[in-house]
Amino acid sequence: MSFEELREKDQKYIANTYNRFPADIVRGEGASLYSESGKKYVDFGSGIAVNSFGVNDEEWKEAVIDQLDKVQHASNLYYTRPQAELAAMLCERTGAKKVFFSNSGAEANECAIKAARKYSYDKYGEGRYHIVTLKNSFHGRTMATLSATGQDAMHRYFMPFLEGFSYAEPTAASVRAHCSKQTCAVLLELVQGEGGVRPLDKEEVLAVERFCKKNDILLMIDEVQTGNGRTGTLYAYEQYGIHPDVVSTAKGLAGGLPLGATMFFDKCEHTLGAGDHGSTFGGNPIACAGACSILRRIDRDLLLEVQGKSAYLFTHLGRIKNVKEVAGLGLMIGLLTTKSSREVAEKCLERGLIVLTAKDRVRLLPPLTVRKDELDFGLQILNEVISE
Ligand SMILES: *Cc1c(COP(=O)(O)O)cnc(C)c1O
Repeated sequence: MSFEELREKDQKYIANTYNRFPADIVRGEGASLYSESGKKYVDFGSGIAVNSFGVNDEEWKEAVIDQLDKVQHASNLYYTRPQAELAAMLCERTGAKKVFFSNSGAEANECAIKAARKYSYDKYGEGRYHIVTLKNSFHGRTMATLSATGQDAMHRYFMPFLEGFSYAEPTAASVRAHCSKQTCAVLLELVQGEGGVRPLDKEEVLAVERFCKKNDILLMIDEVQTGNGRTGTLYAYEQYGIHPDVVSTAKGLAGGLPLGATMFFDKCEHTLGAGDHGSTFGGNPIACAGACSILRRIDRDLLLEVQGKSAYLFTHLGRIKNVKEVAGLGLMIGLLTTKSSREVAEKCLERGLIVLTAKDRVRLLPPLTVRKDELDFGLQILNEVISE
């Protein structure tokens, strides 16, 4: 099938919910991808922070294929080894007490929202269901997570949205002002990803934490995008010096397979019991085997490498003409330039560099294992496109 035929078929038969870029990806190696026609791309997107170790990673493939040779699915009615192993690894590395597995970021947040309401119901009875999130946040596309998402542009067409959410400015004062006797949780991204790669202020987050602890309001951190080494620590909350009650993650966790995880720390260890929540596919053994292979290798050395690559990118991006701001954490970087972000992304693609956008920002999310020469290639293309 030629690219033109593929494009036609796709547009004819697939719901047109995506404004796709004109590229087909058929194979690759690490952060280097190739189209059917042989055009090469250096990948600064990782399939939106999913392919943590790029594509075709030997160890990851071995783990996945090894599990494929055993059993591809068993359902959560039975025990499977990869799931238990992954949960133990997540708990040991974070201090979480329990994990619930699902298939996506939205589902991981959906579980967090349900758990927050149940925690409060168990302790305080009915009515304490309200959850504060932030303006400009993104928590997913299901009805509950869309309701949790603080963007007016997304609150159209699908009314009525789920009751019990309000959206604060990213300051402790505003979060406090939005909380009441009905509030059971605050849900935050520490670096707003889809909202434009905006890191929250550390002092503000610490103040939100103090307020939450004092009022038994759960502090829930959405690490769907920031998690799993992306920001230079295993989870971004470590860099904020906070102790969340719930952490959700997904995207990069299984290195390219669909997997969501909701981690419960001390307070909500026992909140969800038999029958309270579930998922047919959640914690699929192949996805979990892939995730074990990824998580095991996100060690101190790799995280230091991520920090080094991040510093390198920040330095060189800051020197490009027409770049107004470079913001982010680790290998999650947003660039504000004098040009439209979509235009920059399209021109980069033409020249063989895949970058993403987030609102008015060009968003860079290269694989954690991206090589120095690939970084340099990306910087050169970005420089050409942005400074011209
Ligand atoms: C991508 C994302 C989600 C949604 O994840 P899906 O897997 O698309 O459901 C939720 N929260 C954040 C912070 C994200 O970046």
